[in-house]
Amino acid sequence: MWYKSLNGNAPRVRFNEAVIRGIAPDRGLYFPTEIPRLSKNFWETLKERELTDLAADLMQSFTEGVLPEGTLKEFLEETLSFPFPLVRIAEGIHALELYHGPTMAFKDVGARFMAQCLGYFNRGGNREVTVLVATSGDTGGAVARGFLGVPGVRVVILYPEGKVSDIQERQLTTLGQNIRALRVRGSFDDCQDMVKNAFLDPDLAKALQLTSANSINVARWLPQMLYYVAGLQQLEGTDPAPVFAVPSGNFGNICAGMLAAQMGMPAAHFVAATNRNDTVPRYLETGQYQPAPAIPTISNAMDVADPSNFIRIRQLFQDSFPDLKELLSAYSFDDTQTRAAMKMLHQQYGYVADPHGAVGYLGLAAYLDAHPGQPGIFLETAHPIKFRPEVEATLGLTLDIPEQIQSVLQGEKVSTSVSSYSEVRNFLLDLSAS
Ligand SMILES: *Cc1c(COP(=O)(O)O)cnc(C)c1O
Repeated sequence: MWYKSLNGNAPRVRFNEAVIRGIAPDRGLYFPTEIPRLSKNFWETLKERELTDLAADLMQSFTEGVLPEGTLKEFLEETLSFPFPLVRIAEGIHALELYHGPTMAFKDVGARFMAQCLGYFNRGGNREVTVLVATSGDTGGAVARGFLGVPGVRVVILYPEGKVSDIQERQLTTLGQNIRALRVRGSFDDCQDMVKNAFLDPDLAKALQLTSANSINVARWLPQMLYYVAGLQQLEGTDPAPVFAVPSGNFGNICAGMLAAQMGMPAAHFVAATNRNDTVPRYLETGQYQPAPAIPTISNAMDVADPSNFIRIRQLFQDSFPDLKELLSAYSFDDTQTRAAMKMLHQQYGYVADPHGAVGYLGLAAYLDAHPGQPGIFLETAHPIKFRPEVEATLGLTLDIPEQIQSVLQGEKVSTSVSSYSEVRNFLLDLSAS
C-alpha cells in the first residue's frame, strides 16, 4: 500500500513515512492509493472472531511492507485492551461507548496505535523524535498517555491556559517522564499557530526531529475503523445493517467508518451530527463548502469550523456530490437542543450521555424520524465525567469518579508558562540540548 498527498504535489510514501511526516511536504493529507475490499465471508463471520483478529485483517493492507504481521497484531492487542460496549437505549437504538480507555475519550485508540507505530519506526534510531501537539482538551491527554514511556519519543503539548477543564489539565500535566506541557497565555488557535510556526522553523528542524500527532496522521485516523466493527459484532444476530450516527468535529472518526463501508462493511447510512459549527450540514444542503468562524459550544471537542478530514471523505467518493449524499446525511444542533436530549435520555431511558454523545443521539433521532424501523447506533465519544460541570448541572446529579480519573486527580500539575512563539522555540531548543 502507498499513500499519496491529496494536494497532488508530493511523492507517494509507505505507511511508516506517512506516520513520521504526519502531513505531506506539499501540506496535503495522506490518503491510501487504493481501498482494499474484504471478502463477504469476512463481514459475515464478524461475530465468531476476536476483535483483535478482525482488526489485524482490516489494518494489514494499510501497514503492509513496513509492519510485520506479528508486530501489527501485538500493537492492536495493546491498543484495543479495553471494552467498547454497545448499550441498548430503546427499540432499535444503541449507544456505542468509546470512552472506556485510559483517558476516557475515544481518541485513546488512535493515539495509542500511533504511539506504538512511531516508537517502532524510530527504533534503533539515534535521534529522538519530538511529538508536538496543540490541544483544546482531549487530544493532548490521549496523546500524552499513549506516548508515556515510549522510548526514543518525547511529547510537548501546548494548551490554552484556563480554557481546558481541570480534569483535562491534570491529564496533560501530571504524567512526567517523557511528557512536557506548555501552558499558553492565549487561545487554542494561538497554540495551533505556535505549532505551525515550529514546523516551519529551519533552526528547529536542524535541532530536532519534529512530528505532529493530530488527527490527520494516518496512524490516528485508520484504527478508528475498528469501532464500527466492534459495534456490529455486538448487534443481535438478525439485526439488519445499522445507520451509524457520529458526533463530528474534524470528521476523522466518521471518515474512518465510511472507509470501512467502502471495504465492504455493512452500514445502511452514516449521519454526521455537529453542534452549531455546521459547515458540513450546510455543504450537504447547498453544495457550497463555506467555513464560518468557530463558535464555542458545550460540546467543545467539536468546535471546528473547517474540518480537516472532510477532504478525505470527498476523496472516498472521487468528489461526486450525489454519491456522497447517498451514504451521508448531516444535521446540526445547538446547546439548548443538546441539553434537552441529555435530559430526555436520562429521564426516559436512565442513560447519562455527555454533550457530544447527546449530539450524536440527536443526529440519529433526526434520521430515524424520516426512516422508521431502521436500527441505528450513535457513538458516545467521551465519558460524562470529562464534562462534569455541564452534565451535573443539566441532569441535577453527582457523577461517580472513575478510577482512570481518580489517579490523575492526585498528581501534581507541572507545566511551563509561555506567551509567545519565541518562548516555545527556546523551550524546544533547550530540550534538544538536554
Ligand atoms: C475529538 C472528539 C470528537 C470529534 O471527532 P472527530 O473525529 O474530530 O470528528 C467528538 N467527541 C469527542 C469527545 C472528541 O474528543
